[in-house]
Amino acid sequence: MTTKPLDRLMFAQGGICFFCNMPLPKADASVEHLVPSSRAGSNSDDNCVACCKAVNALFGSMSLKEKIRVVLNQNGKFVCPNGNGKAQPSPVAPAKAAPVPPKIDNYAVVLADLKKRGASRPRKVETLKSTIRATVKNAKSSITEPQLETLIKHLQVNGKVIIADTKVSYSL
Ligand SMILES: [Zn+2]
Repeated sequence: MTTKPLDRLMFAQGGICFFCNMPLPKADASVEHLVPSSRAGSNSDDNCVACCKAVNALFGSMSLKEKIRVVLNQNGKFVCPNGNGKAQPSPVAPAKAAPVPPKIDNYAVVLADLKKRGASRPRKVETLKSTIRATVKNAKSSITEPQLETLIKHLQVNGKVIIADTKVSYSL
């Protein structure tokens, strides 16, 4: 009793599509001739693989060279174009998410600016606030009023800024 080529190849490949590595239901499976029959490729198992019908149809009678190019073009994420299992229905890459702008550390920016200012540091809370707003804006960042209050609290907690009533002194 002889086994059919497809059954034999499926067994040898562990039920996995040769190209996309996805589990291959027999209903979706077909025998692909690596060197196509139309180019005198043999029917032996050396020249045949079991794979998704969809990729077999896509390959048609491409030469082995063309098929290798198709596989390489998928950059190691080859997906048969059939929506089989978890595979995507189309080999088109998903759109990349928009790049996230780098997060600017307002605290560090403000602290560096205050250090740099030396004797010309703001002496009043209101002036300090407007200085911080300008510094953050210059750094192409943004700050809300509650964030501004929090930032000043951090400066106080860390002992960088001492606020007495409306007067500000520094320990930078
Ligand atoms: Zn496949």
